[in-house]
Amino acid sequence: MLTEFRNEPFTDFSQPDNEKAMAAAIARVRSQLGKQHPLVVGGERLETGNWIVSTNPAAPGEVIGKFARAGSAEAEMAMQAAAKAFQEWKRVPGHERARYLFKAAALMRARKLELAAWMVLEIGKNWAEADGDVAEAIDFCEFYGREMIRLSQGQPLTPYAGEENELVYIPLGVGIVIPPWNFPLAILTGMTTASIVCGNTVVLKPSSETPATAFQFLSIMEEAGLPPGVLNFVPGAGSEVGDYLVGHRQTRFIAFTGSKEVGLRINELAARPQKGQIWIKRVIAEMGGKDAIIVDRDVDPDLAAEGIAASAFGFQGQKCSACSRAILHKDIYDQVLAKVVERTGKLTMGPVEDRHNFLGPVSSKSAYGSILQYIEVGKKEGRLATGGEPAPTPEGGFFIKPTVIADVSPTARIAQEEIFGPVLSVIKADSWSQALEFANNTEFGLTGAAYSRNRRHLEQARQEFHVGNLYLNRKCTGALVGVHPFGGFNMSGTDSKGGGRDYLLLFTQAKAISERY
Ligand code: NAP
Repeated sequence: MLTEFRNEPFTDFSQPDNEKAMAAAIARVRSQLGKQHPLVVGGERLETGNWIVSTNPAAPGEVIGKFARAGSAEAEMAMQAAAKAFQEWKRVPGHERARYLFKAAALMRARKLELAAWMVLEIGKNWAEADGDVAEAIDFCEFYGREMIRLSQGQPLTPYAGEENELVYIPLGVGIVIPPWNFPLAILTGMTTASIVCGNTVVLKPSSETPATAFQFLSIMEEAGLPPGVLNFVPGAGSEVGDYLVGHRQTRFIAFTGSKEVGLRINELAARPQKGQIWIKRVIAEMGGKDAIIVDRDVDPDLAAEGIAASAFGFQGQKCSACSRAILHKDIYDQVLAKVVERTGKLTMGPVEDRHNFLGPVSSKSAYGSILQYIEVGKKEGRLATGGEPAPTPEGGFFIKPTVIADVSPTARIAQEEIFGPVLSVIKADSWSQALEFANNTEFGLTGAAYSRNRRHLEQARQEFHVGNLYLNRKCTGALVGVHPFGGFNMSGTDSKGGGRDYLLLFTQAKAISERY
C-alpha cells in the first residue's frame, strides 16, 4: 500500500559523514563539468551547432556545461513530438502515470547530494539551500503522484435515479513548461511532473541560467522510463523559443514561473487565438513578489531580527518569497533595525562550495549589475545601514554584500519594485494598522509575515494582510509541499497553489458522463 505523503527530510551537514559525502559529491560533479549536451525531442538527441554556455556565478570562467540551443525549427519539432506522444500518454491510467513520479522521486533520493552539488556550482546555492531544493523536488513527485491517484478515483456526485453518472479528470494536451533559475530543480520538477502525471505531454524550456540542473532532471525522467515524446527538452532563448511555443496553435497550456514582466507577456500572447486554434490556452503563471515582514511593538527584537535576516538573505535574497521590506513599529524600530544590521554583518560570504559560507554569488552578471543599480537608488531613497557594495573576488564572482537600507518611504522605488537580490528596505510605521497598510501597498501579494504577541493584531493580520502565503511569528520563506501550498495574489501570479490539493486541477479538465440504461 502506498504510504501517506511525508516531506523529505533535510540533510544535516553538521554530521561529519554528511559533510564528507557532500564534499565528495561536489568533486564528482566538478569532474563532469564542461561537457556538451543535446536537445532531447521525441526521445532523440539533437544538436544545433549553437550553444547556451552555463557558468559558475562564483567563478564565471568556469564552464558548467554547454547546451544545444534550440531555435524555432527545433521548438516546432518538439511540439510535434509532444502532440504525437499525447495520443498514447493520455490513455495511460492515472495510477500508472503516478508510478513514473514515484520512481523519479526514488532516483532523486538516491542522488540527492549530487543534484544539490549541481546547484551549488551552477547557481551558487549554499549546501542547505541546495539540499532543500532537492527535497522539494522529491516532495513534488511524491505529492502529485498521490494527488493523481486521488483524482483518478470516483468523484462524489449527487445520486440521480435512472442514471449512472461519473466525473473524470482528463488531460488538456501539450503544455509548455517555463521555469526560472532560482529553484532550478524544485520548480521545474513541480510544474513538469504536475503536467505529466495528469496525462499531458510537455515541451520544457529550462532557464538559460540553469540548463545543467534541468538536464539532470531530464536524465532522471528518462531513467524512470518515461516514454519518448512525453517530455521534450529544448533549452533556448526565452524571447525566441519561448515566444514561438507560447504562440503556437497546438499549445494547450503554459505553466510559467518567473518575473512579472515575462509572465504578463506570456499571458497576453497566449490570449491571442492563432489560425486553426480550437481552445482558449490556459496560463498558470507564478510571478514576482515584494514581500514584507511587519513587526509589532511588543515583539522580542531578537526573534523578529532573526526571521527578517533569514528571510531577506537566504540564497542571497533571490527567492520570490524573500523578505525585501521590514516594516517595524516605531516603538521598536531602532532596536530591531540594530539587531538586523548586527546579524547581517555576521553573515559569511564566499564560494558556497565551502559549507561555512552562508551567502554565495548572485545569479549572473546582469543580475549583479541590476542589483547594484538598485542599491545606488536606495542610497538616495534611504540611509545605508550596512553593505551597499560588491565584494570582489579574484575569480570575478558576482558577490554583493548583504545590504540594509533604513528609513525608506513605503512608496520609494526600492520599496515597490522587485530587486531580487540581497537588499532589504526598512520602513517605519506609526501603528499596527499602518504597518498592514504599508505591507499591502505594492502591486504584488506573494508572501508576508507578521510578528506580534497581540491576539487582536494577529487576527487583523489574518484578515487584512493580502498575500497568498501569510506567516505569523515566523519567517516568510521555506514553504513545504503539502504543508504550505504556495502561490501569490495580484501581480504575483494567477492565484494557484503549488504543492496544494487543488493544483492538479489546473492541468486537467473535468468530463461529466451520464448514461441511462
Ligand atoms: P524570468 O526572467 O521571467 O525568466 C523565467 C523563464 O522565462 C526563463 O526560463 C526564461 O528563459 C523565460 N522567458 C524569458 N522571456 C520569455 C518569453 N518572451 N517567452 C517565454 N519565456 C520567456 O525570471 P527569472 O529571472 O528566471 O526568475 C526570477 C523571477 O521569478 C522573480 O521575479 C521571482 O520572484 C519569480 N519567481 C516566482 C515564484 C513564484 O512561485 N511566484 C517562484 C520563483 C521565482 P531565459 O532564461 O532563456 O530568459
